[in-house]
Amino acid sequence: MRRRRIVTRLGSGYGPGMKKLVLAAVVALSFPAFAQTSNQAERLRDSALNDEIAWDIVEGLTTEVGPRPAGTEAEARARDWALARLKALGFANVHVETYDMPVWVRGEERAEIVAPFPQRLVVTALGKSGATPAGGLTAEVVGFDTLAELEAAPDAAVKGRIVFVSHGMTATQDGSQYSYYGPVRRTAPSIAARKGAAAIVIRSLGTGYHRNPHAGTQTVAAGVTPIPAGALSLPDSDQLQRILKRGKKVTMRLTLTPRNLGLRQSGNVVAEVRGSDPQAGIVLVGGHLDSWDLGTGAIDDAAGVAITAAAAKRVMAAGRPRRTIRIVWFGAEEVGGPGSDAYLAAHKGEKIVFVSESDFGADRIWQMKPGFAAANSALAGRIEAALAPLGIGRGTDPAEAGADLGDWVKAGVAAVDLQQDGTRYFDWHHTPDDTLDKIDPGQLRQNVAAWTAMLSLVANAPEEIERKTPAP
Ligand SMILES: [Zn+2]
Repeated sequence: MRRRRIVTRLGSGYGPGMKKLVLAAVVALSFPAFAQTSNQAERLRDSALNDEIAWDIVEGLTTEVGPRPAGTEAEARARDWALARLKALGFANVHVETYDMPVWVRGEERAEIVAPFPQRLVVTALGKSGATPAGGLTAEVVGFDTLAELEAAPDAAVKGRIVFVSHGMTATQDGSQYSYYGPVRRTAPSIAARKGAAAIVIRSLGTGYHRNPHAGTQTVAAGVTPIPAGALSLPDSDQLQRILKRGKKVTMRLTLTPRNLGLRQSGNVVAEVRGSDPQAGIVLVGGHLDSWDLGTGAIDDAAGVAITAAAAKRVMAAGRPRRTIRIVWFGAEEVGGPGSDAYLAAHKGEKIVFVSESDFGADRIWQMKPGFAAANSALAGRIEAALAPLGIGRGTDPAEAGADLGDWVKAGVAAVDLQQDGTRYFDWHHTPDDTLDKIDPGQLRQNVAAWTAMLSLVANAPEEIERKTPAP
């Protein structure tokens, strides 16, 4: 099926994009070193369409470790699992780099309408949420359709009440509404706290109509003591909106009993494919090892660490590449990135010439966004040409990487984003339903094929990989 689809794509259409590709192919053929790297990348890409390595990692990690909340004993078990698996795969320099971080853990969680229509609602605490008394707190609910309405509200309208913010993130291929509506989860709790709210519940930042609320962290503003903060599932959020629309005074009892455990150890797991030319710089890729506690973190982000490690392994198996490929399985991404901060602080002096991150599930890659200096446009063209047969088109926005490697891109390091289809991703993201069955093995293999081709081309590029901006 997949092969037939590839042929159809190549056979159909010969627009301006395809002309550029042909040009890239002609340029590659006229320089034997480039042609050689392109030929090898294509061979590796095609054999990766039968990959089993990524599935074995994602299946093993989600089954043998399960949920991996940052800074907990489960995340430590995940690091042990990762060390053993990466060593067994034959990577070099496999080790953990530790750091300390404040740890928050979930407690009991209950929400119920006391009046006018008594009933339970399904809620989960947002990361860093404050706690209610053990028996819960009961207060009047004040509803806001948008974050802007909450911001504009006088303190008197909010003080002592349970704030409810509803909003309507919808599914998009690029997942962009997660950024657009994200502040409702990240900043609304602190805004409500500053206005004197007793607690806050939001409509989950997600798209799936099931009664699973979506967890996720918040950003606690300076000087704010977190108030109890929870997310309602989408159907429960709709229900609360309908109840509020009846115009009667609505009272809710909210019970959230999370705890702060203080500073605990977390860590990043590192492994390498050793390159032959230490002067050529390091290619840094990865995803994150931690997950939210409700599901088993299959799409977020066992898939990402599996895809990148499988691709690196396949490049390694084809012979020593020119550049070292370094894989990092970051810890503690979900709680605001102390793992990526620690990594950047410890390694910013190294010659890291390229970064790329996989942290958006396991559905097929549809777009590649290059982020190279103008001097490396030929390399971008070779990557584009190698990915086109997988149904991956070149986008116009520059690469940004993600939460764990984005700071490197901001600092001027070259990057490529291999953008996965996010249409289904936010149905399950951060819910109890982020489980292995949501991963389609065929789409996972397409990811590995794309990553293998890109990594092979970048690690073996005969030319130097330049910074986009001079080093700071
Ligand atoms: Zn993630």
